[in-house]
Amino acid sequence: QQAEQSVLYQAYELSAKWYHHILKNMAQGRDAMNYLRSRGFTDKWIDFFQIGFAPPMWDRLAAFLEKRQFSLPLMDKGGLVTARTEGGGYYDKFRDRIIFPITDFKGRVIAFAGRAMGDAQPKYLNSPETMLFNKSRSLYNFHHARPNIRKQQSVVLFEGYVDVIKAWGAGVNNGVATMGTALTEEHANLIRKNAEQAIVCYDGDSAGQAAAFKSIPILQKANMHVKIAMMPPGIDPDEFIAAYGGDRFQHEIIDGAVPAVKFKLLYARKNFNLADSANWPQYINTAVKLIAELETPVEREHYISELAAEFRYSPESIRQQLNEERQIFL
Ligand code: ATP
Ligand code: MN
Ligand code: MN
Ligand code: MN
Repeated sequence: QQAEQSVLYQAYELSAKWYHHILKNMAQGRDAMNYLRSRGFTDKWIDFFQIGFAPPMWDRLAAFLEKRQFSLPLMDKGGLVTARTEGGGYYDKFRDRIIFPITDFKGRVIAFAGRAMGDAQPKYLNSPETMLFNKSRSLYNFHHARPNIRKQQSVVLFEGYVDVIKAWGAGVNNGVATMGTALTEEHANLIRKNAEQAIVCYDGDSAGQAAAFKSIPILQKANMHVKIAMMPPGIDPDEFIAAYGGDRFQHEIIDGAVPAVKFKLLYARKNFNLADSANWPQYINTAVKLIAELETPVEREHYISELAAEFRYSPESIRQQLNEERQIFL
């Protein structure tokens, strides 16, 4: 087991180098390189994140690994190749995809994410879980970002690998992403060991916003202070940076992240038609419940005033409703 593990680490490291070499130096990698350039990836970040390309042929990596004396049954167990169902032999797990190596906290390659270049499905293909790779414990870019996360006591959570890379290029050097899975308690505990604050910067589409909403209690349970970066509707961090530049991303989106309760108040509005004042009391009711969960009177007062001002109720009436709510709540 131990011996297999160390062979797999070597195989992943070598495969990452091989994919990177094909992208950078081989004719087969040219289209992939053009694709990455068209999406604004520079050589510097392609090298730093060791991005690569898996050629479209069936078994080039398998042949390469075999020539280097790696056992293909072990490579299969490790998720790099797959046994053919007929006729014997092995074929590559990743073909015709951009390769993003996934590393552990020590920087060792433990898995790959492969992005299709065209509309091939699935858009992203990840390595399966293996003796090296556990999705619910892995965070993309954690190895690079950890010293910055610790220094700033703050982490930025993204949905996508590309978002992490582009944000890094824009100077946001404390960003990580989950492996296309929802944030787990294990992720949250791991993050909490390194920082007090999490800024959730998910995509501005409804799936991203729903995922951001769900991440709040998970992070809070790990005792983190949570903020949400508000993306414009429908666009993701990569698209924002491409359209408006890294400075605006840093200063408007990241620095402008709002407290979790503010996000929940905004999110709750989707369920009410506030153009019709007949719906206001219902929304106020929901809002008061959210404000009631805040720990300090100062925080509660802040949102009471805001709510009162917006809907032209007296702060006293909202405060009274809130106190009733807190009696039920506590
Ligand atoms: P791109 O900008 O390259 O289209 P993205 O990161 O914006 O990528 P999203 O569709 O927003 O892609 O998905 C966010 C993340 O979810 C991806 O980075 C990936 O980790 C994961 N993901 C997306 N689609 C799939 C899929 N079909 N299978 C597995 N994971 C996926
Ligand atoms: Mn998305
Ligand atoms: Mn996205
Ligand atoms: Mn994207």
